[in-house]
Amino acid sequence: MDFQDYSIIIIGAGPAGLSLATALARRAKAAGAAKKVALVSPVWPVEWVNNFGVWQDELAFDEELLACVSHTYTQPQIILPSEQRPRALGRTYVKVDNAAMSSLFVRRFEEADGVKLVGKVTSVRHDSLWSTVELRSDAEGAPRNLRAHLVIDATGNEPRFVRRQPGTNPGYQIAYGVHARVKSAPKGWLSSMRLMDWRSAAGASADVDGLNEKPSFLYGMQLSEDEVFVEETSLVARPGMLMEELQQRLERRLKREGVVLDEPLACERCVIPMGHNLPDFSQRTLGYGGAASMVHPATGYQVAGALSRAPDVAHCLMDLIEKDGFRGMALSSRAWKVVWPEEARLKRELYMYGMELLLGMGLRELDAFYQAFFEWPDHLWQGYLSDQLSHTQLMEAMALMLVRLKGRHKLELIKPAWVSSENRGHLVRGVFQGALNSVLGVMNDRV
Ligand SMILES: Cc1cc2nc3c(=O)[nH]c(=O)nc-3n(C[C@H](O)[C@H](O)[C@H](O)COP(=O)(O)OP(=O)(O)OC[C@H]3O[C@@H](n4cnc5c(N)ncnc54)[C@H](O)[C@@H]3O)c2cc1C
Repeated sequence: MDFQDYSIIIIGAGPAGLSLATALARRAKAAGAAKKVALVSPVWPVEWVNNFGVWQDELAFDEELLACVSHTYTQPQIILPSEQRPRALGRTYVKVDNAAMSSLFVRRFEEADGVKLVGKVTSVRHDSLWSTVELRSDAEGAPRNLRAHLVIDATGNEPRFVRRQPGTNPGYQIAYGVHARVKSAPKGWLSSMRLMDWRSAAGASADVDGLNEKPSFLYGMQLSEDEVFVEETSLVARPGMLMEELQQRLERRLKREGVVLDEPLACERCVIPMGHNLPDFSQRTLGYGGAASMVHPATGYQVAGALSRAPDVAHCLMDLIEKDGFRGMALSSRAWKVVWPEEARLKRELYMYGMELLLGMGLRELDAFYQAFFEWPDHLWQGYLSDQLSHTQLMEAMALMLVRLKGRHKLELIKPAWVSSENRGHLVRGVFQGALNSVLGVMNDRV
């Protein structure tokens, strides 16, 4: 069989695959690696179709990335039903310019001698030293076999080649959004971006989707003088909320606010699994991004984390191959520890508990929860949302929540542990194993 050999092959050029492939190609070039890095995508130029939003400071590690945004919102708001006035969050939020950001990565990838492969990977096989992918493309009739020391699956939230640990039972963030021109609206409507407007879509006195229904919020931003993007979002539910219900809520909400939109220029039907089990770390194919369950279990965000971690992850992976000479399963098991180091695994137990907490909350409880949450010191709530807290800081934040919540809302915090042994497991591992590891100083066993 005719093989072509690479150092690493990445499958999928979404934000996770493209950013990691770029960082790997740069690292390979800097290290003078004998073999190149290849990235497989069904189409070139790559197409990122989702509306991505991130906190501006999450891109601050790379000035050129920081410039790849289409809109900047300096005072995004959160609106809670019990508070009449919006809270300005004082942390700048940006909408990613998908074309600009993906082109920047592709240019960097090419400059670093990365190899762009067009097609779909249909299988991945392994022997003791090499991993072989079969690549099919419409242009070339017969499939091609390509070999690499390491294959990385970055095919998104429902990965094609990476297995998860058994028994996965995610919650779902579901959102229905439209990009449309505004026909008529009250003066100043959406002049500030609404990150989460938790007021009921049908108004405070309505019982249609009021306090007893699964909660949803409005995520809305102005795109130009007369264009907006508005999205009715269910933060997390199991099973996920129906898209049609969210569409109806959005229509009711806009009507209640006296807003009339033209026919949508585009619609977004967003489904994000949250809290999928971690990958099976005994497998040879590595995962990254959604494929490696890197979506934040309590927020549904993932993009900024994948982008910002890519240079560091690439550095470690290239060192494993080029400097240390690892191959086969020895390489993969170390590589999994780079993607999911011990501290991240233990923090994730706590985020999983956070997700279960949200799953059990009605609007009243969410209202109390977010009041307390946004009163944490800035570095704690910001770090929680961006997964930038250390395990110790995360524990500090949780303790603060216990102190700040009042009355029966305190009990809500322990409800998930009360109702399910799985949730107790998240808490016990996250709190006690985490604390023990911190004391013993064995948190960062990365490689
Ligand atoms: C509508 C929507 C909006 C979202 N908004 C945000 C947001 O604002 N902020 C945020 O942080 N997260 C957001 N998310 C969550 C998450 O970050 C995204 O799902 C993100 O796209 C995941 O990135 P990824 O690179 O892991 O996978 P994907 O973006 O799904 O990319 C996977 C790539 O793999 C390719 N592929 C698949 N199979 C093969 C194959 N066999 N061979 C070759 N290539 C293949 C696909 O073509 C695709 O390009 C959103 C998700 C959705 C669905």
